[in-house]
Amino acid sequence: MLKLAARPDSTMATENKFAGPLSAAIAVDGGEQSPLAARAYAQPAHAYRGPFVRDAARILHARAFRRLAGKTQVFTRLQDEGLSDHFRNRLTHTLEVAQIARTVAATLGLNVELAEALALAHDIGHPPFGHAGERALDRALAAYGLSFDHNLHALRIVTWFEERYPGFRGLNLTLAVREGIVKHSRDYSAHEHPELAEFFLDRFPPLEAQLIDFADEIAYLTADLDDGLDAGILDLDQVREALPLFRNLHDTARADYPAATAKLTAYEALRRLLNALVTDLIDGTRLRVQTLGVETLDELRRAPQRLAAFSAPIELERAAIKEFLYTNLYNSPGQEQAHAYAGQVVGGLFAHLLATPERMPADHLAQAPTEGLARTVADYIAGMTDSYVVQQWVRCQKR
Ligand code: MG
Repeated sequence: MLKLAARPDSTMATENKFAGPLSAAIAVDGGEQSPLAARAYAQPAHAYRGPFVRDAARILHARAFRRLAGKTQVFTRLQDEGLSDHFRNRLTHTLEVAQIARTVAATLGLNVELAEALALAHDIGHPPFGHAGERALDRALAAYGLSFDHNLHALRIVTWFEERYPGFRGLNLTLAVREGIVKHSRDYSAHEHPELAEFFLDRFPPLEAQLIDFADEIAYLTADLDDGLDAGILDLDQVREALPLFRNLHDTARADYPAATAKLTAYEALRRLLNALVTDLIDGTRLRVQTLGVETLDELRRAPQRLAAFSAPIELERAAIKEFLYTNLYNSPGQEQAHAYAGQVVGGLFAHLLATPERMPADHLAQAPTEGLARTVADYIAGMTDSYVVQQWVRCQKR
């Protein structure tokens, strides 16, 4: 039988320098007695599953999680009937973030179960139509002195909107998961957000939460290059010219596989790019932690800055990729059209429901006396998938 030997990968030799995990006391304690495993409603321990494994399962089984399949990551299905089935939606993006987060957490000796739960939850607060939908909701709320923040909306989903259990509203997640949902990508001031007081607002979140923001960015930067090339919006030569890191990896991929098709060589370069970013995040984070001599979670929380980080040279590459994607993909003419449509649908439905709130389902309307009508309408719209928000918009125009 013919045996195919894999060719040696020229990038692997330098990537095998494993420097080991961080001090064990930096990882969040995942035991039942851990203060960060506390729940708003006390529940008995499970026979064989730890608190964060249970949280990851609760998120995975939530309705809001399933709706991610119908929400735009970058490409909106409605904008073009012929759109490829291979482009990421917010659910497949979330699964890619979880894969990266698990790898980084495991390599650094962090709590993998917590990192996974946070990765699964990191986008459940996103409204339909990606960032265009978020901007539209934010603009609509601004007229009422309010704003839309997907992290805070995610917290509302897991503490209130999900109704799965007879004993309590929400998913009754652990303190560590709720803190991470709120703080993984930014910090909140106690002065502006007294309602978040239980989440240690004067300190940084654990590394398991900090790394989610990076895993998110690694996942979408590499995936959006992939989808952008696949969609024909980006051109390989243009990517090579603008991004030196990609160009180098593409050159080595071509040298390693001279007979491979252009498509497979581009995939290989993207795979190496993802690997390079993940490896640098692991090394960069370890370096920052060790440089400061941080050995416990408490020291990490009180450090002068967040400690999850890329190295300085890769940070420049990351910024270059992001800028490139903003100019050539996210704000490309085709996408601008989709964003304008999203703004029209979300903004239009918001105005319509504000004028006729009785058209909202009773359980949403019941929030209005305590939350105010504008927030209630925004919460209702934020939960919708792309297709459902369009369906509601079309229906309300017929009335
Ligand atoms: Mg994300």
